[in-house]
Amino acid sequence: MREIHVSAIVDAVAGLAVSACCHLPRVLYESIRAAEARETSAAGRDVLQQLLVNADIAREENMPICQDTGLAVVFAEVGQDVHIVGGSFEDAVNRGVAKGYTEGYLRKSSVAEPLFERRNTGDNTPAVLHTRLVPGEHLRLRLAPKGAGSENKSALKMLVPADGIEGVKRFVVDTVRTAGSSPCPPMVIGVGIGGNMELAALCAKRAAARDVNTCNPDPRYAALEEELLQLVNGLGTGPQGLGGNTTAFKVNVEFCATHIASLPVAVNINCHAARHAEIVL
Ligand code: SF4
Repeated sequence: MREIHVSAIVDAVAGLAVSACCHLPRVLYESIRAAEARETSAAGRDVLQQLLVNADIAREENMPICQDTGLAVVFAEVGQDVHIVGGSFEDAVNRGVAKGYTEGYLRKSSVAEPLFERRNTGDNTPAVLHTRLVPGEHLRLRLAPKGAGSENKSALKMLVPADGIEGVKRFVVDTVRTAGSSPCPPMVIGVGIGGNMELAALCAKRAAARDVNTCNPDPRYAALEEELLQLVNGLGTGPQGLGGNTTAFKVNVEFCATHIASLPVAVNINCHAARHAEIVL
């Protein structure tokens, strides 16, 4: 049994928050550069160049890539041979979010209650925490800040098996078409297929937080990722909605087992600032 003190978790999460908000993943940066070379619209190319300059400045000056530093979504894989000592795991994650967002001067975007007072919690807590118990003696933490512009354009639909793969494609493309320029395209699009209602949404969120240079290990789903990318890029929305052939950098698909009578599909849209950072303790 390996012990990990909560103070290490607090510091790790704080560091991830600053790093994720200020440093665009290198593979996404390279993807923007490659898209710029392919983009046919002059306005689209100009936007992509500005995104590269923006990412450079953010990295060099440790400034947020975007003013909306989002809710702090944390994926935690806790090894079952890890013993967390010194306090509770969830408290440690939230203390880390508060520390990172406060000391890193990142915008606090969380309100404690959604309908009546909508009072800002002041430190961007609570985190949106997804925890899995896994074999081993390590703790893997992935923090993916998620802004509202793209999250608000995400959608879920309970299809049925008769809708089939064409129904899935239609729903993904319709969701991206309806999103228009609101999620600050080019996007990174996560698609979750299967499970039940909440599991499809979680699958889509995991897919949206995946790196753009990865593909689904199942070749059928990898081909679907590629086909969906071609379809959404055929919409012509383009960078920042100004037209062009780069509406998305990547479509990532995740799937899971589902009911014999269900075909849930969730689309979690991420913007060009598809940020995340990861650490293993
Ligand atoms: S959608 Fe993304 S880039 Fe646009 S404001 Fe929100 S976080 Fe920023």
